[in-house]
Amino acid sequence: MIRAADASLAAVALVGAGPGHPDYLTLRGLRLLQAADVILVDALLEPAFGDLFPAGAEVVAVGKRAGRHSVDQDAIHGLLLGHARAGRRVVRLKGGDPLVFGRGGEEALVLSAAGIPFEMVPGVSAAQAAAAAAGVPLTHRGVARSLSLVEGHHPEEAALLAPQLAAGGTVALYMGTRTLAQVATFLGATGLPGELPLVLVENALRPGQTVTHSTLREAARGHVQSRTDGPGLVLLGQALAHTFPGTLPFPLPAPIPTAV
Ligand code: SAH
Repeated sequence: MIRAADASLAAVALVGAGPGHPDYLTLRGLRLLQAADVILVDALLEPAFGDLFPAGAEVVAVGKRAGRHSVDQDAIHGLLLGHARAGRRVVRLKGGDPLVFGRGGEEALVLSAAGIPFEMVPGVSAAQAAAAAAGVPLTHRGVARSLSLVEGHHPEEAALLAPQLAAGGTVALYMGTRTLAQVATFLGATGLPGELPLVLVENALRPGQTVTHSTLREAARGHVQSRTDGPGLVLLGQALAHTFPGTLPFPLPAPIPTAV
C-alpha cells in the first residue's frame, strides 16, 4: 500500500512524471502530488493524471509544445515563487525527468537563489521509455558502452556524434523528429554505415505508441517520418540490432494474450 505519511516538508517539489501515462510516475511523485495545494502541469501528460490530483488542489496548465507557448518560463518561475512564499505546497509536474531537456535545472536555480527549500524527484525519461517500448537495449555488453542524450535542434552538430556511434555507442535524439533527415544526412557524410540501426518511437509507453525500426540510410532519404502528432524519440546505434521482439505495448490496446 502507498503510505501518505511520507510527504515532503519542502515547499516545492519538481517531479518527473515519466513518459506521459500516470502508471510511470514514481511513488514519491504520487505522495507529493497527493499532498499538494498547487500543481503546475506540463502539456505532454495524459489527462488521466488528473485522477491523481487531490480534489482541493489548484491545477495550472503551464505546458509548452513546439510552436505553442502557453506560459513562458519566467511566468512559471513567478508562479513557483509566489505560491511557495504564500505557504502553499507546490508540485511542478514535468514530463519525463525534470533534469533532461526539461528546464528543471533553471527552475531549481531560481528556487535555490530565492532560498526556498525544494525537492527533486526523478522520472522515467523518454530515452528509457522508447527503448522499453521498442524492445531494444540502450547499452549492450560488448557492443554499446555509452549512451548520449542529445537534442535535435542543431542538426549541423550531428557529426560530433559520429565517433561515439562508430565505437558502438547509442544516441537518443530528443526533439529530433523534424530534423531527423538532416541529422542522418550529416551522420552519413561522416562514413557511418548506412545500415546503422535506428528506431523512431512515438508516444512511448502511452496511448498511441508507434515503433518504426529503420536505418541511418533510410532516415537520410527522408523515409523515417512521424506517424502521429505525439512526441517522438529517435534512437541510433549498433545496440539496437539486438532487438527483443515480443514486448507488449503499454497501455495494452486489447486483453493480454495468454501464453500457449
Ligand atoms: N524531460 C523530458 C524531455 C522533454 S523534451 C524527458 O526526460 O523525457 C520533449 C521531448 O521528449 C519530445 O520532443 C520527445 O523527443 C521526447 N518525449 C517525451 N515524451 C515522449 C514519449 N512518451 N515518447 C517519445 N518521446 C517522448
